[in-house]
Parts: sequence; structure tokens; C-alpha cells
Amino acid sequence: MEFKYVPTTCPYCGTGCGFNLVVKDKKVVGVQPWQRNPVNEGKLCPKGNYAWEFINSPDRLTKPLIKKDGKFVEASWDEAYKLIAQKFKSYKGEEMACLASARVSNEENYLMQKFARAVLKTPNIDHCARLCHASTVVGLAGAFGSGAMTQSIADIAESKCLLVIGTNTFEQHPLIGRRIMQAKMNGAKIIYADPRLTPTGKIADLHLQFYSGTDVALLNCFMQLILKNGWENKDFIKNRTKDFEKVKEVVMKDTYSPENVSKITGVPAEDIIKAAEWFGKSGQSAVLYSMGITQHTTGVDNVKSVANLQMLTGNLGRPGTGICALRGQNNVQGACDMGALANVYSGYQSVLVPEMKKKMEDAWGCQIAEGKVGLTVTTLINTLADEPGKVKCVYIMGENPMLSDPDLHHVEKGLKNAEFIVVQDIFLTETAQLADVVLPATCFAEKDGTQTSTERRVQKWRKAQDPPGEARADWKIICELGAAMGYEKQFPYKSAEEIFNEIARVTPSYGGMTYARLEKPEALHWPCPTAEHPGTPILHKEKFSHPDGLGIFTPIEWKAQAEVPDKEYPFLLTTGRCIWHWHTGSMTRRSPSLEREEPTGWVEINPEDAKALGIADKEMLKVSSRRGDIKIGARVTKTIKKGVVFIPFHFIECAANILTINALDPVAKIPEFKACACKIEKIKEA
Ligand code: SF4
Repeated sequence: MEFKYVPTTCPYCGTGCGFNLVVKDKKVVGVQPWQRNPVNEGKLCPKGNYAWEFINSPDRLTKPLIKKDGKFVEASWDEAYKLIAQKFKSYKGEEMACLASARVSNEENYLMQKFARAVLKTPNIDHCARLCHASTVVGLAGAFGSGAMTQSIADIAESKCLLVIGTNTFEQHPLIGRRIMQAKMNGAKIIYADPRLTPTGKIADLHLQFYSGTDVALLNCFMQLILKNGWENKDFIKNRTKDFEKVKEVVMKDTYSPENVSKITGVPAEDIIKAAEWFGKSGQSAVLYSMGITQHTTGVDNVKSVANLQMLTGNLGRPGTGICALRGQNNVQGACDMGALANVYSGYQSVLVPEMKKKMEDAWGCQIAEGKVGLTVTTLINTLADEPGKVKCVYIMGENPMLSDPDLHHVEKGLKNAEFIVVQDIFLTETAQLADVVLPATCFAEKDGTQTSTERRVQKWRKAQDPPGEARADWKIICELGAAMGYEKQFPYKSAEEIFNEIARVTPSYGGMTYARLEKPEALHWPCPTAEHPGTPILHKEKFSHPDGLGIFTPIEWKAQAEVPDKEYPFLLTTGRCIWHWHTGSMTRRSPSLEREEPTGWVEINPEDAKALGIADKEMLKVSSRRGDIKIGARVTKTIKKGVVFIPFHFIECAANILTINALDPVAKIPEFKACACKIEKIKEA
């Protein structure tokens, strides 16, 4: 029996683990360890282990589909391209919008933003980073001049104290969780701050079970205690930062005393004091955070508070320190790097700077969209829903807003207002079902390309099998559509590598990368500006990325979330994910081994709350918010804080995002998935 082993990178979370796809008779039939990969050293979590199961699912899209009289009809590629090109040409630039995707390669994201800007002449290009780490991109860029994780993953094990806040790392980035365990085994203190006692919290030395949305208050209190005790790093503050006094003025207020912050957060004052002491005195403390920090109307404030804490204690630019902003999807970092964002071209080159626009026009050989900030994922949906006719046409690659975005009734209203929708995906997702044309795409195992993990490591995908039926790679589809629109010259690529070479030419942080250099298992971390540069696992060693090299402190006051519980909706709802499923479940719910473990959603409720409402474990409940209601089974558990409930968002049959609020961070435009008000009722017998 002939087996082939193709080393590639996991398509699920931002950790970027490597594994071998096992190929037999030209089909992927399994996953095997890739020991030489330094990220995970041959180990995998359940999602990685079963990442092969959805690849040959019978549900894969194999032919283009065109909706006729409300029903999808199979079509040829020529027919689909002709219709799409004719429609696209009938709209003005800003009447169109494109969504790129954290699920596809860097090359494909780069081409999608090029297509939007150069072919459709629209500034409206964005992707789902808007829903997870837009606050990180804005917040860390504001503080340090660069909006990415400052350390490498392996470096976490070197830390002497880890503040793990708003991240269920063991379930969402399990192979980063392994580095937390290594740090603990090396003697590090682990402080866990989260409304839930997740598996990550269970190994912590201290669990600060705070109310969702009180992060700034907690972090300001830490800073007050550190200053009062003289644990701040005076040299670092003096030599490497500015505006410290402004932050000192805020955090020293009585509002942020341990006693007052205990009332705001629900965490005992003595625990806050103990945590601040461990963190402030270790000399080598790192913060790990994820969407518990970012998915708030105060997402940018939360991120900037983390940056304040790390500058105050001088915990940046050295091994075992830093800010590990754990990016969610496999290539959400790369999609941002590639300029699939409403405000930047690739390499975070601002669309508002005329020289950058000229640079892209020169490189692409055509005029491009006006240099202005376009609509984001969230403002696009708002525009579609609330200003019908302003945006008429949407081209979506590999995204599923009908399950991933807040307030799903509002999303549905918006998408139904569009005149023409094209969706390019591997399955007929909830969003694809609303499309006028659906184009069958390839998955990670069926194409070459690169993705960039949370630690800025740019890694290869390697083709292991042919796609099913007539499915085509996203980059090929974009090139063919470009040609159908009359832009063949701008999309001449014969391989993903040719696209990557153009990316390196126009993107300074990728400037020294080539496919040949990325071939080795360790690949390269950006910035890697020249062919000789070794890559940069740790950022900000000598100076920050601002022109003057200084980090910027920002004073932040704590603000409550947009919708606080009240008499009518007395519970605080927070949402998230579980270890077995991935986001909208289009891949994991088609993996039998994963679906078997968690076949549907649930609502976690504290035993005291359950008792007060007469609710039994596994009982079906109605959970409602001001946006809608769902029916869902109860999971009565002490791991959730009293007054708070948790629902994972993967499951369409009890979609948490029917309930969530479409309230946005004013700067990052990220929605407040982590906190809104809801009520819970028993379902009355008919
Ligand atoms: Fe894949 Fe993330 Fe699991 Fe690694 S930790 S195997 S990247 S899902």
C-alpha cells in the first residue's frame, strides 16, 4: 500500500501547528505528526488530529451554482463568470463590497484586496479580523507602532509569571496552552482572569473570576498596586516610553483601589493584591489574551490597558515577557498583513497616505479606489440593513456572517437587502444559501500557499490532493474573474508563488521572504525585510516601531458595557467556543469525530441561578435578549460565575449570535460579543 506524507499547516487556530497529511490513492486519508515542526513538535489537539475529515465530505461544493427562481442550478464556470462580470460592471465602485477571509491563504487575501481596489474600485474590503482582533491591531499599533503579538509561542515557556486574561487557551489554542504548562513546570505563577473556570483556569495558581467587561478596572488596579509598592520599571518608563504621568494620574484614583475594583469586578480584593504582587515582582511577566479582551465596545481600551501594564513593568522586548495577543483563525494575522482591511494596503500601509496609493497603482499598473477608509464587516452589514440601496453588491470569500456576526436577524435583513451576492466557499454555508451565485473553492489541502500564525510566523501550505469536481483555488477564481472584468494584465499569475513574490515586493515586512526560504519547518517570522534577514521572533527589543522609537502610554478609564443586565434581562451573556468545534462549524461539524463529541450547543448557568429558576441540568430553556430568542439545553455548572451565562456560537440550531448585541467599539468597530443582557425561562409544556 502506497502512502504519501505531505507536510503542511493546520487550518484551524492561529497557533500554526504543522502536521503531515497522509495521502492514499490520491486522496487525503489522515493526519500524522510532523516532529520537526518547532511550533508543536509533533503534538496536535483534537481539531488538528481530525483536520482531514471534512476534506472529502460529500457536502463539498463541486460546481458553480446560480440561483434561478429561488433555487440553485448548476452552471459552468464560463456562465458564472459572465453573469458576475456583467453584474459587477453595472455597479459603481462604492456600491460594491468585498469580504476576504482568515480561512484562505495570504496570496488569496492579497488578491482579494487587489481585486476590490484595482478592479471594482471600491475601498470596501474587510474580513473577520473585525470580529476578533481589530482591537489588537488598533490598540497595540497605537501603543507600540505595530499591532501584533510581540513574542514567539515558544517564548511563553520562559516566563516567570503569566497573566492569562480573556483566553481559554487550553481549548482555543491548545498547543499554546502546552507552553503555559511548560512555564508552570518551570516554576512560573499562572494568574487566570475570566468569568468562567475553563480548563485553562483549572491549572492556574489564582483564578480572578471577574465580570465580563471589567478588564480595565482590574488592570488599572494592578497598576495602582504596582506603583504604590514601587514595582514599576523606572528605567524602562524613562528611556523607552512617553506619557506615563497621564496614566499614573488615572490609575492612582480611588476608583481603582482594590476595595472599589473588587465591587466592580466581583473579585476578592486580596486576590487582586496577590496577583498584582506576583505579576509586578517577577521581573519577567507576560500577558496572554484573546477575545475576552478584544470583543467589547471597550476593546481598544482593554488592549491599551494591557500595553500600559507591560510598559509600566518593563515587560517587553525580552524573553519570557511581552503581550501574546492570541489570534483566532489560522490566517487572521496574514489576512490583516495582506491588507484585507478597510484602512490599509498590505503591510499596514495606510490608504490615507497618497504615496502608498501611488505605490500600489505603480505596482499594479492601474488606477485604484479612492484613498479612503472603506466599510468594515460590521459597518457593511449596518449599511446594508439600515441604508438599503447604498451598497448593492457583495462578493464574499470564505466567510459566514450568517452565523459569525452579532444580531443575526439584523445580518439577515442586511444581506437580503443586497441586489447581488457572490459567495465563494467550500460548503453551502448559511451565508452561501442567500447568494445569487456560489463558486466552489478549494480547501487548505488542495493548494499551495502561505498562512501567517499568531506569532507572525509565515508558513507553507502544500497541496496534497486535487479538489473535488470542478472546485478551483480561490486565487485562481479571482484571477479568472479579474480577466473576465478586463484586468488580465493585473492578474497574470500561474502559481501561488508568483503572487507571493509580488507580495514581497510591495510589503516591507515580508520583503525578504521567498518560498525557498519558507521551505524549512521553522519558516520565518515577520518583519523580515531583506533576503539576508533572519526574521524577528521577538519585537521591540531596543525600540518600539513608532518613528521616535518610544512606546506611548494612554490613560484609560473603565466604562461599563453597552447593555448591562436589568430587571427584564437580568443575566450577563458571554459567548465563545469549545475545543471540538471551530467558529461557524462549517468544517468541524462535517468531521464525524469532532461532531460526535459536541453535537449541539448549550447554555452554562451557575447552580445557584439554576436553583432560583428551578432549572435542572440538560433541561431545554428559552434564552432571550432584546434581539431574539433561542431554545437550548442547560448545562448547570459551578465553573460559570453567578449571574453570568455562557453559550458557544458554533451551532446554527441554537445560534448564540441571535442574542448578541450589535454594539461596536468606536475605533476598531469590533462588536461586543462578550457581554450583553439576556433572560432565561423554562419552556412551558404545551
Ligand atoms: Fe491546529 Fe490550533 Fe490545534 Fe494546533 S492548536 S492542532 S493549530 S487547532
